[in-house]
Amino acid sequence: MRLTVKCGVVRLTKRKRAILEAEYDNLQRFLNGERGVRLYSANRQQAVRYYKRPKPSKEYPLSLRHDLIDLHKAKTFWFLRVRVHGVRGGIRIPIIPHREFPKDAELGESKLFRRHGNFYVNLVFKFDAPPLCRGNSVLGVDLGERVIAATVLLQNSWIKRPRFLGREVRGIRRHHAWLRRRLQERGLKRVVKRISDREKRRVDAVLHRVSKEIVEMADRTTSWIAIGDLTGIRRKTKTKGKRLRRIVGNMPFHRLTGMIIYKAMMRGVPVVLVNEAYTSITCHVCGRRGFRPSQARFRCPECGEFNADLNGAINIARKVERHLGYMPLCGVACEPALDYASA
Ligand SMILES: [Zn+2]
Repeated sequence: MRLTVKCGVVRLTKRKRAILEAEYDNLQRFLNGERGVRLYSANRQQAVRYYKRPKPSKEYPLSLRHDLIDLHKAKTFWFLRVRVHGVRGGIRIPIIPHREFPKDAELGESKLFRRHGNFYVNLVFKFDAPPLCRGNSVLGVDLGERVIAATVLLQNSWIKRPRFLGREVRGIRRHHAWLRRRLQERGLKRVVKRISDREKRRVDAVLHRVSKEIVEMADRTTSWIAIGDLTGIRRKTKTKGKRLRRIVGNMPFHRLTGMIIYKAMMRGVPVVLVNEAYTSITCHVCGRRGFRPSQARFRCPECGEFNADLNGAINIARKVERHLGYMPLCGVACEPALDYASA
């Protein structure tokens, strides 16, 4: 498995900043075709290796070869040694990582880049995933538009701990859509771009928190995670209104699913992607087909009304619970594997 730890480069002395800037700028010039610039040999090799057809308008990160990455901790900071042209042994730069470095991990090819005048390092660690833990209950996750994830725990067919996570995503998206419209009317394109970056960061922060909460809950209760496979969602919403299609088509379901799978693998929690056909319009009590009078509600002709998101989450969890005894234990399974297992 690979884990990227983002680090900010901090407290650069004037001298070190000048040296780093020179190396970085020379890399850009080298990629723009100036073959004679002063660049550390390994940095040059990495550039040739990774950037086959560089675009002149883009800035490219400095690729750090894994065997040249030298990382050590001093009193308060971590220090990274960066090899540069003209300074024997390179320069030591202080960095602050956004999370702890994983233990027993090897370093892979990493990147140093500049944004808005500041330097950052993305360090890539490689390590073995922990063994999978066979759970005896299922945490069903229904990804939706109103709340980004509704979850429910099925333990011996008992429905427990309904949760609604990430409600704020919709608000963030609406607010930014409104802002963007207003800025576009005034022709402020650069501001629009900055606003979009900020929106993505804010949404991502929520997604990270939601995925962490889901995986921790599954880990604590030794559960499998069952999650609706949304690869068909765009097709499915074709028949519905334009507005809804825009919202659903842009929702960050794929990013959230990816984060859940990744975090689950880090902890040895197995994940099953469930074909979510009919899970939103089937009654979790009697199995009859019902309908949704609104986004929020599900109505069964016999049993009455339920919360639509929870009804979906229960159906998704049930699809996996039925097969628990037969399930092949693998990191991420899909439903065809389930059908095969039960046949
Ligand atoms: Zn029913």
